[in-house]
Amino acid sequence: MATILDGKAHADRMLELVRLGVEDRKARGLRAPALAVVLVGDDPASHVYVRNKAAACARVGITSIEHRLAADTHQEVLDTLIDQLNADSEVDGILVQLPLPKGLDSKEALHRISPAKDVDGFHPMNQGLLLEGLPGLRPCTPTACMSLLAHHGLQLKGLRAVVLGRSEIVGKPMALMLLEQHATVTIAHSRTQDLPSVCREADLLVAAVGRPGLVEGSWIKPGAVVVDVGINRVEDLALGERIFAAEPRKLEVLKAKGAVLCGDVRFGEAMQVASAVTPVPGGVGPLTIAGLLANTLTAAGAGR
Ligand code: NAD
Repeated sequence: MATILDGKAHADRMLELVRLGVEDRKARGLRAPALAVVLVGDDPASHVYVRNKAAACARVGITSIEHRLAADTHQEVLDTLIDQLNADSEVDGILVQLPLPKGLDSKEALHRISPAKDVDGFHPMNQGLLLEGLPGLRPCTPTACMSLLAHHGLQLKGLRAVVLGRSEIVGKPMALMLLEQHATVTIAHSRTQDLPSVCREADLLVAAVGRPGLVEGSWIKPGAVVVDVGINRVEDLALGERIFAAEPRKLEVLKAKGAVLCGDVRFGEAMQVASAVTPVPGGVGPLTIAGLLANTLTAAGAGR
């Protein structure tokens, strides 16, 4: 049986370090770091994420400032708000919650955020710094995954790593961070041929696809470490019966509640083949917020 990589416990460790960093600032007479969150529209999942971020900020002593805009907000209004936050010396980090409602250009908004306050690490300047292996604000999810792997003691040098997914926010930066640590990295995606064979080469498999249970146990090399970034809501019973065959408790929840959360990897099957696996929920999810707050502390330090 594989070890479960407990993301919640590691997030707690990361948050404690941030809390100590905030305390240290206060002891030096500096104000608490401040994170401005911009939430446009009424997407229920986004509201939950923003609430969770505010709670995490409160826990570590970071000031969180919320700006809510209506779903029919014009791009110019959003841009003006971002400009104001860029100019505000009391704000260290700016986060525009994605997805934005239709009609708003998320790239334009993200590119407008000052790179020094870009705590999501999505600005081209910060992405360029990552590409060059230089310090900068880096995307939270892959940064936190790297921190978890380091804590687990995984030696990345020379390791065969496969990253499934090539998004700007997870897949690509994750691949770059693994490369920086001297892993031999393959990025696989929706056009990759014979995905199972590619995945089977991996000593470290990172799945960031958004397809429930895509990765079967037979795709995993025995003894591999598996990081499952995907967060998917499954309501379809037929799908659930297929992907939860080795995870009867998930199937029970699906039947009882009509929906259940799962990752891109069939967790029950992975547990029988891999050496270590992150669960969903409780794996990468809690780490991402911890990464965001660590970035906010860094941005505050850089802003002085
Ligand atoms: P995305 O949709 O931007 O990118 C998905 C990637 O997967 C694409 O590069 C695509 O080529 C690839 N892909 C799609 N279908 C595929 C298939 N059948 N086979 C192989 N590759 C395929 O998604 P994203 O923003 O990178 O997020 C991926 C998943 O991670 C989602 O489930 C998302 O909810 C989750 N996520 C979780 C966290 C967290 O905090 N845990 C953070 C960000 C994203």
